[in-house]
Amino acid sequence: MSKQAPGKVDMEKIVSLCRRRGFIFPSSEIYGGLSSCWDYGPLGVELKQNIKQAWWRAVVQERDDMIGLDASILMHPQVWAASGHLEEFTDPLVECKTCHLRWRVEDLKDSNCPSCGGELTEPRLFNLMFKTFIGPVEDSASVVYLRPETAQGIFVNFQNVLNTTRKRLPFGIAQIGKAFRNEITTGNFIFRSREFEQMEIEFFVKPGTDQKWFAYWTQERLNWYVNLGIKRESLRLRQHTQKELAHYARECYDIDYLFPMGWSELEGIANRGDFDLVQHASYSGKSLDYFDEETKEHFIPYIIEPSAGVDRSTLAFLCDAYDEEPDKDEIRVLLHLHPSLAPIKVAILPLSRRESLVQAAKQLYADLRQCWMVQYDDAQSIGRRYRRQDEIGTPFCITVDFQSLEDNQATIRERDTMNQIRVPISELKTTLAAKLSGEELFVLPPGGKIWKGESPA
Ligand code: ATP
Repeated sequence: MSKQAPGKVDMEKIVSLCRRRGFIFPSSEIYGGLSSCWDYGPLGVELKQNIKQAWWRAVVQERDDMIGLDASILMHPQVWAASGHLEEFTDPLVECKTCHLRWRVEDLKDSNCPSCGGELTEPRLFNLMFKTFIGPVEDSASVVYLRPETAQGIFVNFQNVLNTTRKRLPFGIAQIGKAFRNEITTGNFIFRSREFEQMEIEFFVKPGTDQKWFAYWTQERLNWYVNLGIKRESLRLRQHTQKELAHYARECYDIDYLFPMGWSELEGIANRGDFDLVQHASYSGKSLDYFDEETKEHFIPYIIEPSAGVDRSTLAFLCDAYDEEPDKDEIRVLLHLHPSLAPIKVAILPLSRRESLVQAAKQLYADLRQCWMVQYDDAQSIGRRYRRQDEIGTPFCITVDFQSLEDNQATIRERDTMNQIRVPISELKTTLAAKLSGEELFVLPPGGKIWKGESPA
């Protein structure tokens, strides 16, 4: 679908498009912005929402073995002692003795400051969790943390879910929510920020079946991106070396995307073994065993965790969809977003602002917005209005012209091919519904009957 070669998209162009068209703004911009925090604008919020919905649909709605959860951001401080975050969630950090910028040792290419070339201090460990206080007194007894991942909310609710849903192994719990990390080096737009959203699955399995499920989820998650339009060659699986493995992981693969700055992690899939439930059972004193009714055994399940970032996915979908093509003397910029992700599904464009056309177009607008996010636009020439919609990834534009008033037909124009078909207005809703779900349609003769599936010709 997209013509731009993998990895060839310029980040500046993505940032500028997002800013210009209202996808993403710097946070608190009128005050000069806040480092590495971002606000999703009117189109960004739709895109992000659609990504989360597509994920939820694939991993919860369409499966028998998954259920959802929404845990709170603030959790008991012992959670972070049990999880290892108080001890382990640290990055070795060096500071430049000249400009005082701080750097992750992992990101350094040589032993001098990447910004000014100055001498660097010895590495120190720096905890990435944001600390705050609960209640009116700011003392050590009231310290709580903003969660650095959503996963722990799932682990601590394992028994609650088991007791209330009658789920048996293997099954998983999915959660989407905000996470916070006081990252030392941020940047690359929304790729690494201090406040971000995660989409996490914790899939509980019987020990011994974990490798099979680990392989299954790795493939399943890779397919999810491809099914939503990301080019397969822009994605790769990368296995963590023994040295890289997090303290809780037995095995881990990253799904990397070829971002403009190079291959970088989009999602991590880890086999966490029984680490989490053993830790929480030990710190809380509560049993987190599972009783297998078939074998009459008690055991602690193993956990497979596919952990994705909403913001990184948003960036990957934008980069992969971005395209430019020559159009007469100009350049047509377009986003080949998958229809289910596109912020606006349909734009209604009356050919002119003549009262009778505007009335008919607004009637259509009122009708179609019951089903989808629809935009109405009658400003400027039709060509310019098509370009505006191409640039924000709207898959279909509907033009209402003078003939429409006579024959009750309108034109559907497709974003990617710029093909146009004329369709009876009474059949627009069903035609769009089919097209948005990817069905092939043929209209014979022009303006006539609509066929689904194979061409009747
Ligand atoms: P990285 O190595 O890039 O810091 P990570 O391995 O620490 O990432 P995980 O802890 O595995 O990341 O988190 C799971 C997912 O959450 C990541 O794959 C990513 O999509 C997202 N994520 C993690 N940290 C950030 C961040 N600071 N900003 C945006 N998304 C993030």
